[in-house]
Amino acid sequence: MGGLSVRGAVVRYGSGETATTAVAGVDLDVADGEILALLGPSGCGKSSLLRAVAGLEPLAAGTVAFDGEDLAGVPVHRRGFGLLFQDGQLFAHRDVARNVAYGLETARVPRAQRGERVRELLDAVGLARYGRRSVSTLSGGERQRVALARALAPRPRLLLLDEPFSALDRALRERLAVDVRDVLRDTGTTAVFVTHDHDEAFTVADRVGVMQAGHLLQVAPPEELWRAPASRAVAAFLGYQAFVPREVAGGTAGATNDGGTRPADATDAGGWLAVGPNGLRVLPTDLSGRGGAGARGGADTSWSARVVAGAFRRGRTELTVDVDLGAGPQRLVAQLDGVAPPAPGATVTVGLDAAGCAFVGSSPQRDSLSA
Ligand code: ADP
Repeated sequence: MGGLSVRGAVVRYGSGETATTAVAGVDLDVADGEILALLGPSGCGKSSLLRAVAGLEPLAAGTVAFDGEDLAGVPVHRRGFGLLFQDGQLFAHRDVARNVAYGLETARVPRAQRGERVRELLDAVGLARYGRRSVSTLSGGERQRVALARALAPRPRLLLLDEPFSALDRALRERLAVDVRDVLRDTGTTAVFVTHDHDEAFTVADRVGVMQAGHLLQVAPPEELWRAPASRAVAAFLGYQAFVPREVAGGTAGATNDGGTRPADATDAGGWLAVGPNGLRVLPTDLSGRGGAGARGGADTSWSARVVAGAFRRGRTELTVDVDLGAGPQRLVAQLDGVAPPAPGATVTVGLDAAGCAFVGSSPQRDSLSA
């Protein structure tokens, strides 16, 4: 099979009592030309997995193979992989073009071809006229663009990126994420991109792998991950704000992969309805007359909630409310359409919006990881 194949990968640091298992048995495939993001909180083992793939960290167990070849014993520089880290670590004594040319020189690519390739790459990363510039004159974002061009120049069969933009400000990161995705797609580069930032992962990747505590919990295209998180742990990490026990949520079983909603069925017993950032709505009072705590059952399940604060954002009102959706009192965000927010302390009625919710099953194995 083409591409990267990781099986049962374990990475450990230290030994005896102080040993840390950073990667606890991960299986992962990245197809030829695919961009995969590894997403997870700091310390979950993303870098360790990436470094093990690169050959920078030994595997305590498991295998890393590329295009069917087991890479055990193959040193970093013989793997044909490109690396890009948070600090691109440009060569200060080389100008931009000669930084990009570095990998081509070590691969003994003839001078004329080198020049052509360097121009091509600088153009691809939006720095066409920067060749003669000293790297000390570049902004942080420009430096990372040069580092990307340098990593791509020798046409690596796999590019490994470890939080490449985390030192940059948010607006710049968003722009670079789009640009990097385009460059990787245009060059057909197979890539693994490590990040703790959801937006970055969802922007760059064809598929996103969610990691937690050394385990890979789910790998799926961004849309599918969002619409059908495999467990509470994944949903919580993605930003689902509450979990309503299946029995309480009534007839609403959440969104389906194709963007619709589906009715509950027997296989849903015991699961939860994960309530997303847009999954809770303030119901118009005339429709929720019976409202109040305990008004449950059926698709029109509603709860009485106490307003804590209101904020007008992006053309709609977001209310922070205290409410008990059946799993204890919680402070949640409810969406209110286009009207002034009720005063703090007021009582409103909230209900679920299926399009902003997802069903998650009750898999004890999966959810034990979140403990
Ligand atoms: P992430 O990239 O998701 O932030 P890391 O792979 O860097 O996670 O770290 C995973 C775990 O391994 C953490 O508990 C971290 O403290 C530990 N770790 C990482 N590198 C080392 C190291 N060189 N020596 C000892 N422990 C390490």
